[in-house]
Amino acid sequence: MRNGEVSFWWRARGGFPPRRPSLPRPEEADVCIVGAGYTGLWTAYYLKGMRPDMRVVVLEAAFAGYGASGRNGGWVTAALPGSRARYARGPRGADGVRALEAALRSTVDEVGRVCTTEGIAADFVKGGRIAVATSSSQLARLRATLAQDRKWGDGDDVVRFLSRDEVRERINVAGALGGLYAPDSARIQPAALAEGLAAAAERRGADIYEATPVTAILPGTGGAGGVARTPFGGVRAKSLLRCTEGFTAGFPGSRRALLPMNSSMVVTEPLSDATWEDIGWAGFETLGDEAHAYMYAQRTADGRIALGGRGVPYRFGSATDQLGQTSLATAAALGDILRRMFPATAAAQLDHAWCGVLGVPRDWCASVTYDATSGMGWAGGYTGHGVAAANLAGRTLADLVLGVSSDRTSLPWVGHRSRTWEPEPARWAGVHGLYALYRLADRLETPAADGSGAAARVALGEVLGRVGDSISGFPH
Ligand SMILES: Cc1cc2nc3c(=O)[nH]c(=O)nc-3n(C[C@H](O)[C@H](O)[C@H](O)COP(=O)(O)OP(=O)(O)OC[C@H]3O[C@@H](n4cnc5c(N)ncnc54)[C@H](O)[C@@H]3O)c2cc1C
Repeated sequence: MRNGEVSFWWRARGGFPPRRPSLPRPEEADVCIVGAGYTGLWTAYYLKGMRPDMRVVVLEAAFAGYGASGRNGGWVTAALPGSRARYARGPRGADGVRALEAALRSTVDEVGRVCTTEGIAADFVKGGRIAVATSSSQLARLRATLAQDRKWGDGDDVVRFLSRDEVRERINVAGALGGLYAPDSARIQPAALAEGLAAAAERRGADIYEATPVTAILPGTGGAGGVARTPFGGVRAKSLLRCTEGFTAGFPGSRRALLPMNSSMVVTEPLSDATWEDIGWAGFETLGDEAHAYMYAQRTADGRIALGGRGVPYRFGSATDQLGQTSLATAAALGDILRRMFPATAAAQLDHAWCGVLGVPRDWCASVTYDATSGMGWAGGYTGHGVAAANLAGRTLADLVLGVSSDRTSLPWVGHRSRTWEPEPARWAGVHGLYALYRLADRLETPAADGSGAAARVALGEVLGRVGDSISGFPH
């Protein structure tokens, strides 16, 4: 099994793309974007679409798609990155939340549309999303989620219940008891989207400089524009946008803004036709479960299963990984989940394992923020739902930078503020303690093989899970 090499997705594209040049000299621009993941690239793409005359420079420490955008599970999902109740505290209340959710749903189609118009072959298939329950506790959580969704006005067109048989007709998940189906979700090859998007932004005239780490982002004074400092000189720009999500803690002054949550993935070798006959999955739905330490998966275009989950949740001091290398114990644990859910994969080899970081704000709610006076902005904190959200955030940042008032600029995540994370060692101890609690809760909720002591055990698991959620502030 390969481990790291950033991700399987890059390996599947024949390795890393040819490296773009670093910043050649100090420069001036209208807009300087730090980070060439989906957020930075979509922002550049839309800015140049709206104002082709603007000079837009993107500075990237490694290469476009090096971060989460080239490593993720490939779910382009309309799932809300945050809590409805918290967003509803904004000035537009519940209506604002519904508007944000509707915008995210249409964003799934927008990503597909751009893939088509720009000729980005990213294996985009809009097959919907299934959340499956494999224990009675998970089933109860799914039913509670559906009841909440109905209260917020979501009808069957947005989310509907699937019986055990309906789940298994779509995807033969062992032990499935039921599920929820949401049509607004698509499957993609993440690195292909990142690579295609970078090329599309360049075709529109954006300049992307790679191997150009930004060491500081300094606001301007007296209308002079701010500066993004790099070892090769600075880029002075009227607008400076930080699009570094899980890497944000690397900037002085932002150490406790977003927690770099680690997520790991494994991918199988291509599965045989007989195995696919057993599993089904003809609709290429994105698949997740309802465990506290949940899993997420997709069927790839080349007939593999790519499956992810938490593993080591967080590294001390907000450190990030080395080229995506993950622990062998995490890869083995993800392999166990794979084989438990899909016994037909028992003999299949795991081909590759990797990990990456996503950004989690302390209140689990994403933000798109721009201050027209200082010209400083940022977007991120999508808590694992960043693929579609980064597109909407990019369009919104473009509007904000250009001073355009749109439906997007009044969405409740615009200007949303979250408090900062606790200092170390409390941050490390808290996150590790939380995930130990979640894993224990998941084990207790899983029925024992002989069914013994089930009720008390399960009830304890559910209580521990709720305790975990109230500590973490994880939204439901
Ligand atoms: C394993 C994994 C699975 C996931 N699965 C899903 C999923 O299926 N669906 C979903 O919606 N979301 C998923 N996510 C989350 C999603 O991938 C991210 O939220 C999203 O890609 C964030 O995009 P971004 O552009 O904001 O950040 P990133 O893609 O992380 O890009 C940030 C970029 O900034 C660069 N950078 C960092 N520091 C500097 C600096 N000092 N100077 C210059 N450049 C810098 C980095 O090199 C990087 O390229 C997953 C994340 C991970 C890690």
